[in-house]
Amino acid sequence: EREKNIMTGVLGLKTKKISDIMTHLIDVFMLEADRVVDDELVLTVHGYGYSRIPVYEKQRDNIIGLVNIRDFALLDTESGKFTVRSVMNFYKHRYGKVIMSDDSCYDVFNQLKKEQYHLGIVAEHDSSSKKDPKPRAIGIVTLEDIIEEMIQEEIIDE
Ligand code: ADP
Repeated sequence: EREKNIMTGVLGLKTKKISDIMTHLIDVFMLEADRVVDDELVLTVHGYGYSRIPVYEKQRDNIIGLVNIRDFALLDTESGKFTVRSVMNFYKHRYGKVIMSDDSCYDVFNQLKKEQYHLGIVAEHDSSSKKDPKPRAIGIVTLEDIIEEMIQEEIIDE
């Protein structure tokens, strides 16, 4: 039965659009670029526990980069001189892979895997060209989302 489910899941990847399985922008934990990094922010980041956190400027659909939860370890929060932007510019993690919202899960899986991205930023098809480094985001997707779809089960994160 489990094998049957996995087969169905894998076959379904070609017809299912990434926008059907993505995490919608409204549910994404993100940080505003100009926010000062204080203890409260570090606690919030650890409270959510996500490894990768998109950074936005002005509007949430304007994602300008990513920070990692680990970037906040060993950071001096007392001085009040670090902003999310300065942390982002210091570590310079790669921007997430830009994914077009009507790409199939199968295509996105290959795109992420090929270029070894863990996270994709899902952008609306009409409002951004593939070359645009800052697309209008509508959600995010990680390899885990696609693998869950493949095995048709929730993955319980540690
Ligand atoms: P993590 O490594 O942070 O646990 P995963 O890649 O395992 O993240 O993804 C687990 C789930 O969490 C996926 O559904 C993914 O879309 C979602 N996710 C990842 N990062 C974030 C975030 N910053 N805000 C909201 N959801 C996220």
